[in-house]
Parts: sequence; structure tokens; C-alpha cells
Amino acid sequence: MPMPDKSTSSEATQAAAPETLSAARKIYPIVKYGDPILEKSTTPVKNFDADLGQLAEDMFASMYAAQGVGLAAPQIGLNLRVAVVDVTAGKNPEAKIVLANPEIIHAEGEKREEEGCLSIPGFRGYVLRPQFVTIKAQNAKGESFEIRGEDLLARAFCHEIDHLNGILFIQHLSMLKRDLIKRKIKKLKKQGEW
Ligand SMILES: [Zn+2]
Repeated sequence: MPMPDKSTSSEATQAAAPETLSAARKIYPIVKYGDPILEKSTTPVKNFDADLGQLAEDMFASMYAAQGVGLAAPQIGLNLRVAVVDVTAGKNPEAKIVLANPEIIHAEGEKREEEGCLSIPGFRGYVLRPQFVTIKAQNAKGESFEIRGEDLLARAFCHEIDHLNGILFIQHLSMLKRDLIKRKIKKLKKQGEW
């Protein structure tokens, strides 16, 4: 999920990951809408080994490079039930959350906000999400934890868990709005711009 539109470009620049961190990391290209992997459900994580830790850090680096606040494995072409979230976009290292095998265990309230997706660049739409969600997940070491998110964090959790189930935010839009976006993407593809 990209940073909300409210963020100014100067904030976006400051949010970039420190050079020293990103230099050692693999920056994955982000898979765009139209690739079937984005619409498939993912395989649960079983091996919590060093490779998974590496992958999670590479996903953070890739997400920061794309100025995102959330990234799910299918978005880098991997069928794996793992996502990363950092609503501070790299400003606070303590805000980094690895979500392996996440599930929503409680949701409360409603909030309608504009949302976008790194895999559907240039398009946004209003999506109704719970205002608060509590999720249960495992970290990169396989340790289980629960975390409650509010507003943008709750939205990021829902958006990324949707990705792990093969669901994109445009599926939450009206058919009219969704078809409009799909038509525009089709046109961009024809022009070789997608
Ligand atoms: Zn997304």
C-alpha cells in the first residue's frame, strides 16, 4: 500500500531508507495488476529460517524504495503468506512489522478513506475498512504475536491480508469505478505504459 496522498513530497524524501541499509538489500520490482499471481491465495509460511528474515528485510527495502507503507509477497512475485507493514515509511525502525500467516481476529468500527496499491500505481479509490483491527500473526522467527491497529495501520493490515488472499483494493470499489480503472489500465497496457 502506498503512503496516503496527504504526505507531502518532502516527507516522502525523508522517509527513504538510509543508504547504508538499502545498499545491502535486494530491491524487488513490484508486480503490477494483470499478473495472475496478484489474484491467487498464498501458501502459509512453514520455514522460519534465515532466508525468511532476509526476505522480510528485502521486502522492507523494496517497500521503502517504492514509498509504500505495506507490501505483500505476491507483489514481488512470491506465493507466500508474508507481508511487511511500516506506516512511518522508514522513519521509525520500531514501526516495522513482519506479518507471517496473519489473520484478523477482531475488527471494530468503520472508516472510509482513499486507498491505493503499489501494484496499481496511479489509481486510488475510497474503501470502507474497519477503524480498528486486531490481528494475530508470526514474526520472521516464527513467534506468534497479536497487534491492534487503528486508522492507517488497521487499513494497511486489511489491505495486506487481502493481498495474501488474492484480493486487490479495487475489488472493494463499485463495479463502475472498478471497470473504469480496468479500462484505463488496458489502455495503458496497449500503449506499453503498464
Ligand atoms: Zn496493495
